[in-house]
Amino acid sequence: MLILIINSGSSSLKYQVRDTNDDSVLTEGLIERIGESEVTDHAQALDQVDQKLTRVLGERALDAVGHRVVHGGERFGEPVLINNEITRAIERLNPLAPLHNPANVLGIRAITKKWPKLPQVAVFDTAFHKTMPEHAWRYAIPDQLYRTYGIRRYGFHGTSHEFVSRHAAKLLGVGASDFNGIVAHLGNGASITAVSGGKSIDTSMGFTPLEGLVMGTRSGDIDPSILIFLAREGYSTDDLDQLLNRDSGLKGMAGNNDMRSTEEAAADGDEQAAIALAVASYRLAKYIGAYHVAVGGAQALVFTAGIGENSWQFRQSVVERLGALGISLDDAANRKKSNEPREISTEESAFPVLVIPTDEEAAIAEATAAVIGEQNNQ
Ligand code: AMP
Repeated sequence: MLILIINSGSSSLKYQVRDTNDDSVLTEGLIERIGESEVTDHAQALDQVDQKLTRVLGERALDAVGHRVVHGGERFGEPVLINNEITRAIERLNPLAPLHNPANVLGIRAITKKWPKLPQVAVFDTAFHKTMPEHAWRYAIPDQLYRTYGIRRYGFHGTSHEFVSRHAAKLLGVGASDFNGIVAHLGNGASITAVSGGKSIDTSMGFTPLEGLVMGTRSGDIDPSILIFLAREGYSTDDLDQLLNRDSGLKGMAGNNDMRSTEEAAADGDEQAAIALAVASYRLAKYIGAYHVAVGGAQALVFTAGIGENSWQFRQSVVERLGALGISLDDAANRKKSNEPREISTEESAFPVLVIPTDEEAAIAEATAAVIGEQNNQ
C-alpha cells in the first residue's frame, strides 16, 4: 500500500510517502514556519505536499494517510481509523498535550477537507503503554486528581518502543509476544520502557514527556517541591515550564542540548559537560536496574534513537554502571558504526545488549496498512 505519513506540529508539517509492499520511501519533506511565512496554514502546506506528490507519484494514488498523534489518553490503545467522532475524541485530549494534539487535529482536518475519500489512521505515541498495570501508572496523589483531570502516567515514544521491541525479538529469534526486555529510546527526548511478553509494563515518561531520564533540554525526574519552592520565589507557571522543558537537561547542566557536542566538550576537559553526562548515564542505569526487576529478568537491553544508535561512549558509560547485572560490552562491536540491528555485548554477558535503529515512520506506515487491511476484509 502507498501510505502518506503525517507528523503535524503547530507550525510544521513533516511527511513521508512509503510503499509498504517493499518498505521503500518514495518521497519525504518538512514544511516549517507555517503561519509565519508564505505558507499561512496547514491547508496551504498540504497543497505544497500535493504538488510534490503529483510530481513524484505520477499516476499512482495514495491508499491511506497515517497520522502520528501524540496523546491517545485512556481510550486509544491501538491505531484507529479516523472519522469525525475519533477526531473530536483526539481534540478532547488537547488539555493533556496542549502543544501537540491541537496540531495533530489540524493535520487531520486539513486532509479530510482536501481528500475526503482518503482513509486516515491515527497512530498514538501513548498507545503501546496502555498495557501498563495500575500500580505503574498511578501517582500517589488523591484519586480525585485522576478523576477530575486525568492525572496519571501515560508514557510516550510508544510507536518507537513497540517497533524496537518487535525487531529486538526478531534478532533474538523469539516471538514478539515472548520478548522480555528493556528498551532505551535515547534521542533529544529520552525514555525507557520495561517490556514483558511484548507489552509495556512500565515506562519512564509519565503524565507528560518530562518525567524520567535526563534529556537534551528536559530535566527528567526532580523533587516536585523544587517547583513549590521556586513558585514561592516568584517563578510563574510559564517560567517553570520554560525552565524544566526547555532550559534543563544537558543544556541546563552544560550549556548544550546536543549529546555529540556535550561529549566533545567533556573530551576537551569541560567539567560541567562531564558531570552532565555522568548524571544522565547514572539516571539511566538506575532505571535499567529497576526495570530488570520489573520484567523479572530481562532477555536483552536495547538501545535506540539518535544517542542510543550512535553514541558508543554513552552506551559504554551506562553499561559500565551495570556490572551488578552481569552484562558487558564487546568494545569493538560497541564502537563499530552501523545502521543495522546488532548485538554489542560479549559472549560472557548475562544477557545481550542490542542496538536496534528505530523508524517511527515505518512503524506508522505498517500500522496504517494493517488497519486499512482489516477494514477491507470486513
Ligand atoms: P534524535 O532525537 O533521535 O534525532 O537524537 C538526537 C540526539 O542524538 C542528539 O543529542 C545528537 O547529538 C545525538 N547523536 C546523533 N549522532 C550522534 C553521535 N554520532 N554521537 C553522539 N550523539 C549523537
